[in-house]
Amino acid sequence: MAKMFYDADANLELLQNKVIAVLGYGSQGHAQAQNLKDSGLKVLVGLRRGSARWSQAEAAGLEVMTVAEAAAKADVIQILLPDERQSAVYKAEIEPHLKAGKALVFSHGFNIHFGQIVPPQDVDVFMVAPKGPGHLVRRTYEEGAGVPCLIAVHQDAGGQAHDLALAYAKGIGATRAGVLETTFKEETETDLFGEQAVLCGGVTELMKAGFETLVAAGYQPESAYFECVHEMKLIVDLIYEGGMSWMRYSISDTAEYGDMTVGKRIITEETRKEMRKVLTEIQNGEFAKRWLLENQVNRPAFNAMARAEAEHQVEKVGKELREMMPWLKKRGQ
Ligand code: NDP
Ligand code: MG
Ligand code: MG
Repeated sequence: MAKMFYDADANLELLQNKVIAVLGYGSQGHAQAQNLKDSGLKVLVGLRRGSARWSQAEAAGLEVMTVAEAAAKADVIQILLPDERQSAVYKAEIEPHLKAGKALVFSHGFNIHFGQIVPPQDVDVFMVAPKGPGHLVRRTYEEGAGVPCLIAVHQDAGGQAHDLALAYAKGIGATRAGVLETTFKEETETDLFGEQAVLCGGVTELMKAGFETLVAAGYQPESAYFECVHEMKLIVDLIYEGGMSWMRYSISDTAEYGDMTVGKRIITEETRKEMRKVLTEIQNGEFAKRWLLENQVNRPAFNAMARAEAEHQVEKVGKELREMMPWLKKRGQ
């Protein structure tokens, strides 16, 4: 088994005399900044002037300033800006403030791995990448738990980059759940593959395909939603808690027989072949290029697809049904 690191392996004191800048206060930024502060570390939040999140961060008791000011004052600079904007902000507002001995931190390897950010040799460059959404990074920390994370060292100028990464991981609560050491290449490629083929792209298309099949065959959209979307969480929760065998123990034998005989007819050799192609396009940089170019032309394809997705029948039915489940906190539109 790969080596895992836990609380006892990490020394928070390495960060105690340092100033940490968390740049961005979105999903990861708000979570990491508050967790680090609650772990007793000195945190500055860097945002652009006029950001609606400025007052949110201040309300959480954090000191907020511009990205450039925070980068200038901090020893450890965690870049939690959107991946596609990081290189421009880095050039204009971070790079001028880098000095020997500072550390640059990422939660995703995209910009380093694909060469969009090339830091000077005399700074540490490492990654602390939570394997979960920011809101869970915060919520689990508050509950005394944590989200597992990956760490990786790209440049070890000061000789302590690995230990600093572990200390940072401890500061956000990740060493409670487990920290795995990886490389920027492995994190970037597996993260992109996971979100595209399995977690986000794979799951939403599977749900929609099931939903559409039932609705087209004349079943009520509400039944189709419960079967193909709502129940997904309940099933995944069981797998998360105790693996596939625990999920299969909990479902009926009828469901288990159907699961084992039909699943392979849905995810076929054809699907696996396409997965390998998707992985190749990530590895050879084709996906990164497409995404960076899409941003340079202000995202016409992204916007059109996002609109069509939001208007899908599964979203309309789901919204109505969720409104009848008051224990679900209302999110999104
Ligand atoms: P979000 O989109 O949620 O937040 C981005 C933040 O950056 C916002 O606070 C935004 O503030 C700020 N921002 C955007 N543009 C600028 C700019 N030009 N100057 C200054 N501030 C700016 O990002 P995420 O938290 O999703 O992602 C951050 C990093 O974490 C990425 O590298 C991502 O891959 C990684 N990551 C994210 C995960 C997640 O859970 N979302 C999981 C693991 C890794 P405003 O718009 O108010 O100015
Ligand atoms: Mg990702
Ligand atoms: Mg059933």
